[in-house]
Amino acid sequence: MLYPPDRPIIGAVRAMLAAAVVLATSVVATPAFAEGPVTAIGQASDPFAGIRPVALARVPDAVPRIPPLRFLLTFDDGPDSGPDGSTPLILRQLADNPVAPGIKAIFFVQTAHPRRGGGADGQAQMRDTCAAGHLLAVHSGLASGHVSHTKLSPSELAASLRSGETDIAAQCRHVAQLVRPPNWAYNEETESVYRQLGLGMLMSDANARDGKIYGWHISLRRRSHMVSELEQVGQAIGTHRLQPVNGVIPVVVSFHDTNDFTASHMTEYLQILVDAARENGLPLANPPFYTDTRAAERAALVRARGGVYARESWP
Ligand SMILES: [Zn+2]
Repeated sequence: MLYPPDRPIIGAVRAMLAAAVVLATSVVATPAFAEGPVTAIGQASDPFAGIRPVALARVPDAVPRIPPLRFLLTFDDGPDSGPDGSTPLILRQLADNPVAPGIKAIFFVQTAHPRRGGGADGQAQMRDTCAAGHLLAVHSGLASGHVSHTKLSPSELAASLRSGETDIAAQCRHVAQLVRPPNWAYNEETESVYRQLGLGMLMSDANARDGKIYGWHISLRRRSHMVSELEQVGQAIGTHRLQPVNGVIPVVVSFHDTNDFTASHMTEYLQILVDAARENGLPLANPPFYTDTRAAERAALVRARGGVYARESWP
């Protein structure tokens, strides 16, 4: 183990930076030891004077390397369609923004609720969302919408998930083999149904707390909230709970595309995520968000299979 498991990552990062400063100083000093007069450092009689830089040069080998993070954005509860809908507003910002253009996300949709995917507008929106290269997966396949899967019998749940997949397949060529339980409610029975259907349950590492049960005022604290969410992510990396997938650590972030505040501030949220990672000393991949649909899906499936998140409870 490279650093104690209970030590916050920020400590590890600070240690890295300190080591880098020492190293940089020693590298700069090396020519003086090799070529300049020894008296320049005032230790003419020190027989070990020339050894120090060599010993310090080994420091980088001992410095823990934190794999870079890449944010995997997810949106629940939609689609929210129409010209003033939240989903199209979010899609426009994911495609075109100054932080990372061309972001691809996962949308966990309510496929049958009349105001979501159950109406013609919602179906057109699901079509547009996957045509833009995003992934769609089932949140709820019931006409009654946002019902906890734990409140359904295993056979009702299985039927609703199959029906939800059929609804998505009617609009999109591909259905991501993932599920996000409404209200984050799951138990052994629901997990067993997901497994039987070959669906990976994807929870999240960081939550924007933009679900409708939270007041609008939460959004005023969204920057400090995200900094503390990513502090948890740093701790999870420090304790090796989050592992890299293809060289980057996918960090699952959950939003609600039915929230019009989220929709109108999406670009700002992207910047907040990048800033919050930096504030926690966490290295970011380039690009810092998934822009490749298949890579995003692979990362999501690996994370779902692992079942370990920076968060251990969800709102
Ligand atoms: Zn939901």
